[in-house]
Amino acid sequence: MTDRKLQALRNLAERPGTEAEGVLAREILERLEAKQTPEEHVWSKFRDFLRSGNLEGLAAATGGGDTVCDCGNRHPRLTLCVRLDLHTIVAQEIQDRFQRGARVYYNYWAYPANCPATVTGYSASSFCSIRLKFDHLKNPRSVRIYRAGRWHLFTQPLDEETLQQTGLRGGMENIEVVE
Ligand SMILES: [Zn+2]
Repeated sequence: MTDRKLQALRNLAERPGTEAEGVLAREILERLEAKQTPEEHVWSKFRDFLRSGNLEGLAAATGGGDTVCDCGNRHPRLTLCVRLDLHTIVAQEIQDRFQRGARVYYNYWAYPANCPATVTGYSASSFCSIRLKFDHLKNPRSVRIYRAGRWHLFTQPLDEETLQQTGLRGGMENIEVVE
């Protein structure tokens, strides 16, 4: 069946002239979808998305499952997190905890443990990030410091044991990156 015919069938299923037409069109569509290969299924959901903005259907077709936002909210993959209230709380907490000019220590993978830095500002584009001037880097940069309940920035260096236990550096505790 060509895309064009499939599209006509979808239109009929969504906007049938009569109720019976709609039932019939949906039955045929279901039968066709059952015969699709996984790739065809993803493409058909992608076309749906382009036409109707059905992102959840596309996310389900591409392997489904959920993703966890940095705020901790679980939501379907490829969709935006809707818990903007949580994003606001985290962004505010970042500003309360870390003032501009504060000396801080960053623990995250690809950075040396307790990487020293100074807070230079806040991130406008990411609620879980902050702008830091690392001692070892020339320019300030925006880095993620909060992920689903875990902080990666501190006002005191963490001791080795705490670092090992918390796994804050994502299992890369033993890898020192020299920049
Ligand atoms: Zn979120």
